[in-house]
Amino acid sequence: DSHNKAIESLNGDVNAFIITTPEQAREAAKAADTLLAKGEGGLLCGIPLGVKDLFCTNGVRTTAASNILRDFVPPYESAVTANLLSEGAIFLGKTNLDEFAMGSTNLTSAFGGVTNPWRRSGSDAKLVPGGSSGGSAAAVAAGMVLGATGTDTGGSIRQPAAFCGITGVKPTYGRCSRFGTIAFASSLDQAGPMARNLEDCAWMLEAMAGFDKRDSTSVDRPVPRYADALERGVKGMKVGIPREYRAPNMPREIEALWEQGIAWLREAGAEPVEVSLPHTKYGLPTYYIVALAEASSNLARYDGVRFGERVKADSLDALYEATRHAGFGEEVRRRILMGTYVLSSGYYDAYYLRAQKVRTMIQRDFLSAFEKVDVLLTPTAPSAAFAHDEKPTDPVQVYLNDVFTVPASMAGVPALSLPAGLDAQGLPLGLQLIGRYFDEETLFAAGRVME
Ligand code: GLN
Repeated sequence: DSHNKAIESLNGDVNAFIITTPEQAREAAKAADTLLAKGEGGLLCGIPLGVKDLFCTNGVRTTAASNILRDFVPPYESAVTANLLSEGAIFLGKTNLDEFAMGSTNLTSAFGGVTNPWRRSGSDAKLVPGGSSGGSAAAVAAGMVLGATGTDTGGSIRQPAAFCGITGVKPTYGRCSRFGTIAFASSLDQAGPMARNLEDCAWMLEAMAGFDKRDSTSVDRPVPRYADALERGVKGMKVGIPREYRAPNMPREIEALWEQGIAWLREAGAEPVEVSLPHTKYGLPTYYIVALAEASSNLARYDGVRFGERVKADSLDALYEATRHAGFGEEVRRRILMGTYVLSSGYYDAYYLRAQKVRTMIQRDFLSAFEKVDVLLTPTAPSAAFAHDEKPTDPVQVYLNDVFTVPASMAGVPALSLPAGLDAQGLPLGLQLIGRYFDEETLFAAGRVME
C-alpha cells in the first residue's frame, strides 16, 4: 500500500505511469501475505513492480504509449509478465515510454513526457528520464516501485537507467521470451530488469528469463541463479577497454568516471586491457537502418482493421491512411517512412542488405574481443540527463545518444548499466558492462565491485 500511495502522490509530477492498478495490486498483496505466512511463495513474492506499457497484460490496457493502441486491452499475458506473476510479483501499473519504444527521451509518448526525479543542483529545470523505458526508470528512482520491466532495442534499458541513477540489464538476445511484447525491431528487442541495484536485477532476471516455444528466437538453456554470481569477485578477470569508445568530444567527467571504474576493477583484482572494436563507428548508422526497417514491417499491422483505433473512411485505403495518420506520432511516422524506404526495391541492396553485412562485422568485433577479455567496460551514454527543452530538434542529434549502447544490441550480447557517480551538477552517470553471449553472470560479478 505504501507504494500505491507513493504513486498516487508522485505520479502527477513524474508521469511515470500511464495506467495504475491499485485494486488488483491490493488483492495480489493479500494473496502474497497468505503465502508468505505459510512459508510459501515464489522468488518475488509480494514485490511491487511496474510493467513497461509495451508488455501485454491480460485484461489491463496496453498502449505502447501510442494513440493507435489507446484503448487496447489484450486478452492474454506476455511471457515475461506471466513469469513474474508466477513468482509472486505484484504489478502496480503500466509505465510510460517513448511511443512504441522509439526514442531516448520519453518525450514522444502520446500520454505526455516523463520527468526525471533528479534535478541539477540549484535548478528546477525538468529533466528527461531517458528512453524508451523512461517511465520504468523514473518509477524506480522515485521509489514508486522496487523494480520495473524494461525493453532494450538499442539502449532503452541502459540509457534511462543511467539517466535516473538506477541499474538496468539488457540480457543476451533470446534470454527472455518476446511473446506478448509489442514488437519494435524483432531481431533486437530484448526484455530486462530495471531496479535499484544489481541484486534486485539478478532476482528479477531469474524470474523473467527462460525458454518459451512461442518465441522462435527464445533460447533453450537453463536459467542460472544470477544472484549467486554477485559475490564471485573479479580476481584474474580481464576487462577490455574499447579504444573506439573514447569519443573525441566526450565530457571530461564521463571520461574521469570511466577511469574510476577501471581503477575499481583493478583494485578488486581484475586486469584492464585495451581492446579494439574497429566497426564501432558504423553501429549507429546500421542500427538506424535495421531497426527502422523492422519497425516499418512490424507496425504495418496497425491498420485500423485488426487492432486498436479506427478512423472511419469511404474506402479501405482511406481508412488505413486516416487511421495511421491519427494514430501514430511524428517520430513513429518518420521511422515508418525511413524503414519503408530502405526496404524498397532499388534501395534494399544499398541500405538494408549492406547494413546487415556491417552488422555481422560488428558482431565479429565482439567475438574477437571476447577471445582476449571476459567483459568490456564503457560509459553508458555520452551525457547526463538533459532538460525537456534541451531536446535537440534535429532527430539525428537525439539518435547520437545511443552511440555507446547500440553496438551490443546489434551483436545481441548482454550488457548492463549501473550508477557509478555524479557529475558536477549532481546528476547520475552510468557505466556499461558488456559480456559474452549468455554470460550475464560475469556482468553481475564485475558490476558488483563497482556498486
Ligand atoms: N533510442 C533508441 C531508439 O530510439 C533505442 C530505443 C530502444 O532501445 N527501444 O531506437
